[in-house]
Parts: sequence; C-alpha cells; structure tokens
Amino acid sequence: LKIILAEYSGFCFGVEKAISTSINVVEKSKNKVYSLGPLIHNNQVINKLKEKGLNIIEDINEANNGKVIIRSHGVPLDVLLRAKENNIEIIDATCPFVKKIQHKVKEYYEQGFQIVIIGNPDHPEVIGINGWCNNSAYIINSEKDVNTMPAYKKVCVVAQTTATREKFEKLSQMVAQKCEKAEIFNTICNATKLRQNACEEVAKIVDAMIVIGGYHSSNTQKLVEISKKHCKNTFHIETASELPINKLLKYDKIGITAGASTPDWIIKEVIERMNEHNKNTMDDILESLENSFINIRPGDIVTGTVISVNEDEVIVNVGYKSDGIIKKDELTNDTTTKPKEIVKEGDKIEVFIVKLDDGEGNLILSKRKADEIKGWKNIENSYLNQEFVNAKVIEIVNGGVIALVKGIKGFIPMSHLSIGYVKDPKKFLGQSLDVRIIEFNKDKKRLVLSRKLVEEEEQKKKTDKLWNQIEIGQKIKGTVKKVTDFGAFVDIGGIDGLIHISELSWNRVNHPSEIVNEGDEAEVIILDFDRKKKRVSLGLKQVKPHPWENITEKYQVGDEITGAVIKLTSFGAFIEIEPGIVGLAHISQISNEHISKPSDKLKIGDTVKAKILDIKSEEKKISLSLKDFDEEPSEEYMQYINNQDEEITIKDILNSKDK
Ligand code: SF4
Repeated sequence: LKIILAEYSGFCFGVEKAISTSINVVEKSKNKVYSLGPLIHNNQVINKLKEKGLNIIEDINEANNGKVIIRSHGVPLDVLLRAKENNIEIIDATCPFVKKIQHKVKEYYEQGFQIVIIGNPDHPEVIGINGWCNNSAYIINSEKDVNTMPAYKKVCVVAQTTATREKFEKLSQMVAQKCEKAEIFNTICNATKLRQNACEEVAKIVDAMIVIGGYHSSNTQKLVEISKKHCKNTFHIETASELPINKLLKYDKIGITAGASTPDWIIKEVIERMNEHNKNTMDDILESLENSFINIRPGDIVTGTVISVNEDEVIVNVGYKSDGIIKKDELTNDTTTKPKEIVKEGDKIEVFIVKLDDGEGNLILSKRKADEIKGWKNIENSYLNQEFVNAKVIEIVNGGVIALVKGIKGFIPMSHLSIGYVKDPKKFLGQSLDVRIIEFNKDKKRLVLSRKLVEEEEQKKKTDKLWNQIEIGQKIKGTVKKVTDFGAFVDIGGIDGLIHISELSWNRVNHPSEIVNEGDEAEVIILDFDRKKKRVSLGLKQVKPHPWENITEKYQVGDEITGAVIKLTSFGAFIEIEPGIVGLAHISQISNEHISKPSDKLKIGDTVKAKILDIKSEEKKISLSLKDFDEEPSEEYMQYINNQDEEITIKDILNSKDK
C-alpha cells in the first residue's frame, strides 16, 4: 500500500491564525470569550476549543460582558458597528484575504457598481461580504443564476475564496458578456488554489482518495468534487475513526488531502491508522507533511511565482505556508511604473524576505531589495569592465536627474546629461539611456552616471567613420546649422561643412538666407576636404545641373519665350528666361519704332515676350527680339520714315502728337 499525501493539505494560514488567536485569548482572558458562529467547520476542533472555554453565539447581542472573536470567514459591516455601539470588545480574526474582498466590495459599491459575488449564498463568508455592500449583492452560484440575473450597467465581480477556478472563470465571463462594464477580481484564495491543484494532481494517479474535513466545510466539499472528477473511489471523512479500512485495503495507491479547517493532528491520526497497513514508514509520511512548506528566514532571497497583481500589491507564492505580499513601494524604485508593467501572473521572481508575519499572518516580501542586492553586484562588474549600463530616468532633482540602473538609483549631473546644452531635463523623464559609470561606491551607495561620455564616444565613432568615407564629388545629406553673411554651415552627420555663398546657387545671391535657413535639410556635394584641419567645403548649386547644360535641346532659334527684364543698359535689355539663363535684346530689337534708350520702352521687372534670334552656347549668350510683339509703328512715325526726304523733324512729329 502506497500513501501519497497531497501538498498544501490541512490548515491554511487564515484558519491557523484564527485558531491560535482564539486559544491565546481564551487562555489569557478573565472575561468570557465568544466566537460568533463556529470558528471553523470542524467539530473536533470546535469541541476542543469549547473545552478550553470558548462559547459559541449566533448573534453579537448575545455577548455578555466578554470578548467576541470574529472567525476567518468575516462578518457583515453592521455587526462590527453594532458591537462598537454596544461597547463589545471585538477580536477580529477575519482572514486578510477575506478582509480584502470586503473592502473591495465596499469601495465599488460606493462608486455605484452592482456587486456580484460568485459563491454559495448561504456560506457565512458570502453573507459577510454581502454585508459590506448593504446586502445588495447579486449572488450567483451556477450558469442558471447568471441567465436570470438582470443585465446591469456596471458590475464588480468577486468570488468566495474557496470557489473553484473553473466556476469563477466560466461565470465571470458570462457576467462580463451580459453587462456593459464589468470589473472582475479573482479573489479565490491561493491556499485554496494550491490545495485544489495538488488534490487534482494526486487524484489523477491514485486508485483511491481520502478527503479529510468537516462535512459542512465548503472548501472540503470542493476537494471532494475535484477528487471525484479524477478518481471515482473518493471517500470523505471527518476523523480517522470514519476510515473505511476494509474498502481501502484493496487499493495499491491511496491519496490523502485535507480541507483548510482540518488540523494536522487529524491528518496525522488518519495516516497513523492507514500506516498499520502501510509499507511506508510513519516518519516518511510525517516528514512529507512537514516538508510541504519551505523553511525561510528574514533576509533570505528566494524565488517565487506571482499569483496576482493589482494596483497596490503583488501576491507571490514562495512555497511558504502563507502567500507573500509585496507592497507597491517594495516592488521597484521606479515610481513611474505600475505593478502590472513590472510583473504578471505566473512570472518567476526573486524576492527578499522582510517578515514572516506582519501580525496579520502575512508574509512580507520585497522585490526592490532583492533587485538592489543583485543590482550592486551587476553594476560593480559593469564598472570594472568599463561597460555601458542602461539607465531609466525616473526623477528630476536639483542639479540633475535620478536614473535607475538594474534597480539601483544613480545620479546624472546636469552637465553629464548630454553632449549639448540641456535647457529642460524634463524631456529625459521616462527615457532609457546608455550611460557610463563615473563614480561607484557600493559602501556609500553612491552611483554617478554620465550620458555625455557615451554621446561623445558615439559621436567620435561616427565622425571617424565619416572622415574615412567621404570623397570629393560625393552627394550627402545634411542639416543647415548656421547661416552667416559668407555662407552656410551644414552638419553632414557629425562633421560641419561650409557652403560658400558662391556655391549656393547658379544665380546671383545677395545673402545666403535667400537660399537656406537654419534647420533646413539639404543635399550637398563635397567639393573639397582636409582631414587634418577638419575642414569640408560643400556645394549646393552643384546638386542641380548647370542651366546652360544642353541649352540647345531646350531652346531653338525662332522660339518664342517669356521672360523678365532684369537689367537695362544703353545698348539693350537683359531678360531672364529661367533661373541662370539670361538673354540680351539689343536696343534695335526692342521696339518697331526708334527709341533712344531701352528705358523708353521697358522698365526692370516687366514681363515680356521675345523671339530667340541666336544662341551661342559656348559663350552662354542668347540674342532676343521683342519687335514681333511690339505695337505697329504709328502713322506719324511711318510718315516720318517715308518723308525723310521732306526733312520732317522728330520735333515736328512730337508737335503734331501734342495737337
Ligand atoms: S482558505 Fe484562504 S481565505 Fe480562507 S481562511 Fe484560509 S487563507 Fe483565508
């Protein structure tokens, strides 16, 4: 016969705490001690406590000048208020996990949420929770209950701590589908989850299962349910005396599990009774009972599994008899992140044991401390190996910023934040930067960092590479950094080059700002460079073809063009056909009438039509004529031309015009 004891069998820490509190109070109190309802669902334990002097009452008003212990299931809020009104001393042994649900329910009820509890409506824990939302909760225990539930606008869903995971998932999903908004909280106690999982594992591999626990114990009934699913030979007993020995003898492998309200001594009794027929030694079994929880001490660093994460804390199972709590400020030094951004359910994390019991039976853990201890070691290695480390800026302080490196707070002075001038360090908040460690003192917990040194190294690498790559004639992109009277400085990737004013455009430029402005992106050509003197000459106009290139393909003699008069001289007018291409209309080609100077007919800025008379591409010359587009000569003028023999003077013409 082989006996396998499922892990996490027996008292959970909530029950253990309630029992030990009661024994303590009963033994020390001079007055009567009451428990409001049976302390746990286990008659044997209750009887023992009664023998010690504990009285069970059903209503708080029955307490007569004594102390009242609130059991781990908790009570409705009005019970506590009534006790206060009547000056009844309360010893509150409500399990911290149940208390958490009560407070959550109250919080959401006050925000106008309809509270939905997944659980048995007759169970004292559920009755107690309902009392924290003015008994207004909708309690569901089956799919049918969800179907008949009204479709509320916004609901807050919690579960009885002993509900099964399957039931919680199924029903909460149905509620979420039915209601517009559903805030769902998995409040199943981890002790329950662990016990149920362990029961399931053992039930799968044995021939018969013994479930020990009170017949009225909800969590024991759940274990029976789970066990039966995987092992049809499941026996539910309360004490060793109920063991069906004869039936059990025909099996080779028997599993044992026990509910949260089953004390160790009952489990031991059952094992002892079985042991009479068991080849295993008693010691082995008892040892496995003792070893089901790990041994830890404050100051230890252990690995645990994240069970749940909310805004204020993270619950971690480290294999101890109670789950550990990491408060939000013990999670990380990074105050800019939320717990859910750091860990998620199922993550394996290292934690520092702060306290085994905070007075409420909670194991108190710190991830921040575990990270710090590991972090100093890692940073020391990076410092000695002169490696970059990654730092996340989390806070602006006087003279610089605080950045987190491997969980440790370091300081980056303002002068080391960047290679350039930093006007407002706020823009670095939340950024992750590679930094160099410039001061490291583990004993004084001093860590000083520099981003500037990293940027300088990166800059140097970049410019060294660029100097080795650039060639005359190469096209390169850059950003205009500064515009002066004589040209513009352009950053071509860590190196500043100069475009002289004469290299900005094929046209005449009065000031560089006519062509470029600071911040402009531009493609330039490297005209020349000197690696030693670190000088680069750039050209902008060269990126575009010279306007005279292929001029004869663009324009032919006889073409009509439109241009702007840009200069007038005594011998003709210069007309710009396109940027960089200027033609000359000789004075004799400006008008059909005689003019003494071009300005008689034209002024600078006029837009004119002209015909191309000649193109000399080598000399970059185009001759134009405006005559075809000028008005016909006046009658007087023609008469003057025809009667030149009759000696009519210009004066005569002008006089005749005046008349
Ligand atoms: S089963 Fe969980 S919630 Fe219930 S008393 Fe035990 S520890 Fe608390």
